[in-house]
Amino acid sequence: MVATATPPISSTRRLGQSRAEHLLEILPPLPDQVYPPEEAGNVAGMSQEEFLVDVVKRPPASQIGPLEKVHAFWFAGMSCDGCSISVLGATSPAVEDMLTGRLPGVPQVILHHPAINLESGASYMRAAELAVMGTLGVPYVIILEGSIPDERMAHAGGGYWVSQGEEPWGPDGEMRAVTTPEWIARLAPNAAAAVAVGTCATWGGIPAAVNNPTNSMSLTDFLGAGYKSALGVPVVNIPGCAPIGDNVTETLAAVLLFLQGIGPLPEFDELGRPAWLFHNTVHNRCVRGGYYEEGVFAGEFGDPECLVEIGCWGPVVQCNIVERGAINHIGGCMNTGGPCIGCTMPGFPDKFTPFYKTPPGSYISSTSTRLLGSFIRPLRRVSMRNRNREVRWDEEGRAPTGFGAQRSLQTVVDHTLDFFYKKLQHRGPLRSPSKAKPEFERERGMGQR
Ligand code: SF4
Ligand code: SF4
Repeated sequence: MVATATPPISSTRRLGQSRAEHLLEILPPLPDQVYPPEEAGNVAGMSQEEFLVDVVKRPPASQIGPLEKVHAFWFAGMSCDGCSISVLGATSPAVEDMLTGRLPGVPQVILHHPAINLESGASYMRAAELAVMGTLGVPYVIILEGSIPDERMAHAGGGYWVSQGEEPWGPDGEMRAVTTPEWIARLAPNAAAAVAVGTCATWGGIPAAVNNPTNSMSLTDFLGAGYKSALGVPVVNIPGCAPIGDNVTETLAAVLLFLQGIGPLPEFDELGRPAWLFHNTVHNRCVRGGYYEEGVFAGEFGDPECLVEIGCWGPVVQCNIVERGAINHIGGCMNTGGPCIGCTMPGFPDKFTPFYKTPPGSYISSTSTRLLGSFIRPLRRVSMRNRNREVRWDEEGRAPTGFGAQRSLQTVVDHTLDFFYKKLQHRGPLRSPSKAKPEFERERGMGQR
């Protein structure tokens, strides 16, 4: 970062003009020739695409559809690079499978990622230059991790916040650093899809927290609500800090199948999130949900019970990490003892801080579940004791093991409760099967014949 001050932006954005369009209006126009003066930074003597030719062994089943390859330009804005780490560790599907075209129907992805490509310097930027000029000859998608800082402010002060590569785009063709927002603004209109990866790119995240000096924003805020890709797709948002790698690769694969003409456009919710991944709250699938329901709560970190009283926002946060794990179905916040701090949500971090405090709303729900739980728990223990005995043991009034014999088999209370419980149990269904379905299945008509 070069800028040291945040001077006012030199011109005013017009009504309906996106911040991306305004940025390009402030910058000088591109010269006719945008190639770098010389090829440099290709120590391997070949591009990553050429290198992979010998490695790619595409089974015939993967070569379905008209597109053989799609370029994917990965840019980092105001980012800690955690999204890259997370996505490179994905397993279902793995990045390697996408790079080598091993997924049936999914075109091979020619990825341009600053951390994993063979090329560097001018050679690395070549494909992006061709895409800006409209001469790449192959469809491309843009992927952003990190938020978009307001380069209009930095430009007014003669600096920049975040950049990738240098191009001869200065006045009189001199080299100048090209900011990530400029690349995004130039590439987005003709991209087949624009994908925001991680909470900084989707909603602004930590770099956009209140009082930040960079006026950072999300990809959607930068490109404008009216943005649609060349194929008519709005910005795809896959939040998480860091996001689950599998969420990202799975969504990309689904979008690529759509571009290939094989699959439908995946279902996205009103915020552009993959609906099938972000429909449920953390709480809906939490491994500690049973404790919550019985009103048993952790008092300090390390306790195995529900974490709501030590700061968990899971009941109102849409995230699938409990089901999917952090990587390869392992880990994830509640599985490893961490309360949910809402990192997938547009209100993160400001609306969730201070993280170490109990969410105020949880006092109402935890107090009521504690009251209800104090009634339900003893009844369940009675049922549990009963179901821990064979029918024969009840009839004989004894258990055949020394361990079992140490406990009294049934008290008068147990007998009485069991009598009424059995009456209810054999009376027939208390609810109709359709009402017993989870809400989201009823909404979508899943399971209907
Ligand atoms: S730990 Fe959080 S998500 Fe899990 S049951 Fe408790 S409140 Fe719900
Ligand atoms: S459970 Fe909460 S803190 Fe953990 S990844 Fe999901 S949204 Fe983020």
